[in-house]
Amino acid sequence: MLDKVLIANRGEIALRILRACKELGIKTVAVHSKADRELMHVRLADEAVCIGPASSAQSYLNIPSLISAAEVTDASAIHPGYGFLSENADFAEQVERSGFTFIGPRAETIRLMGDKVSAIEAMKKAGVPTVPGSDGPLGDDEGELLATARRIGYPVIIKAAAGGGGRGMRVVHTEAHLISAVTVTRTEAHSAFGDGTVYMEKFLEKPRHVEVQVLADGQGNAIHLYDRDCSLQRRHQKVLEEAPAPGLDPDARAKVLDACREACVEIGYRGAGTFEFLYEDGEFFFIEMNTRVQVEHPVTEMVTGVDIVREQLRIASGLPLSIRQEDVELNGHAFECRINAEDPRTFMPSPGKVTLYHPPGGLGVRMDSHLYTGYTVPPHYDSLIGKLITWGADRETSLTRMRNALDELLVEGIKTNTDLHKDLVRDGYFQQGGINIHYLEKKLAQ
Ligand code: ADP
Repeated sequence: MLDKVLIANRGEIALRILRACKELGIKTVAVHSKADRELMHVRLADEAVCIGPASSAQSYLNIPSLISAAEVTDASAIHPGYGFLSENADFAEQVERSGFTFIGPRAETIRLMGDKVSAIEAMKKAGVPTVPGSDGPLGDDEGELLATARRIGYPVIIKAAAGGGGRGMRVVHTEAHLISAVTVTRTEAHSAFGDGTVYMEKFLEKPRHVEVQVLADGQGNAIHLYDRDCSLQRRHQKVLEEAPAPGLDPDARAKVLDACREACVEIGYRGAGTFEFLYEDGEFFFIEMNTRVQVEHPVTEMVTGVDIVREQLRIASGLPLSIRQEDVELNGHAFECRINAEDPRTFMPSPGKVTLYHPPGGLGVRMDSHLYTGYTVPPHYDSLIGKLITWGADRETSLTRMRNALDELLVEGIKTNTDLHKDLVRDGYFQQGGINIHYLEKKLAQ
């Protein structure tokens, strides 16, 4: 087992990783910016190192600083969490070259999946269903572009191969707008991501966002941990997630779960990962793979009983997966509400001092949060301050628990989006299950 892990992240996920390390008897190093001295996990870690000023660019994204922190503390491995450097292949490479274990896939896998064109190609080869599209990058020939779009059928979407965070895409409804859309997206992609490669896909009009969690040990063993539905999104940011995804076509689902597992074996995947799909009319269409632990991983943990971060640590230690596919049993239903420090109506961030924090409790209620009364939420980072997760033997029980838990949650001194969640868990369409990715924005517009 790894001896000492440096946690290259902050907030709730840093605390989540620290807890998993403690359970396995692994020593921990917290790194933090000058604005983050008061973080809960910094207090609980065996050692803490300040890696720079408040700005993420100079701290949590500062590769030399992180590597020196690992050197001075004699850590054996680095866990990147999510966001920040978690999907940065150069970071993974430098970590390994400096003699530390990167807790995640090999750098080449991160690179393969970070380029959406190569990711889609790899998935096709592995038998994972993809969106009908250009099958590779778009060229300059206008006649060819028009022919490709005609073959796919309008509407189409032009996407940057290096895109991320919902940026670098453009929907085209008619032929008259195609060429200019390709040109503009290419230019934008070049300036935003330093790579002007773009590709074309069929634009699906009312898909759901369904994703598959996988674990692979890089020794030939891979399993899936079923699916999650993350369709409730605002500006491509997930708001409320659930596992399993309700009401999927059973045959299509079984096939896609199998295909994801097999794809992991085929590409020699190592660690935790997520295959993201759009799901429409009973069909799955791969859009991208995330090569890290995700914010919403707890809903999967609640319905499978598998501790995903613990498995990441075991895999990074060189151990084989501790569970086989036939041992993974889906049990009950889980929801997760992302609690953000923001105004529930305007969505403006609301940093500041938490004058009272009272998390909910009871059977089937889990609160993953770094908050405590007296903690000051700094203005420099993502507004996620906690994740409220509930489990129940069935969807209705889990949702009832979520309603009650949200009513119990108290965060005073700053604004949070708790009221938005209270509204969502009482929404008639959401209660039925299976709403599409546009539902929340439409609801908010009303
Ligand atoms: P990113 O890496 O920026 O998150 P994705 O490829 O995952 O990019 O796409 C982000 C979102 O854009 C999807 O969740 C979906 O809402 C929308 N989207 C992407 N591709 C399509 C498509 N072919 N049809 C409809 N919507 C799409």
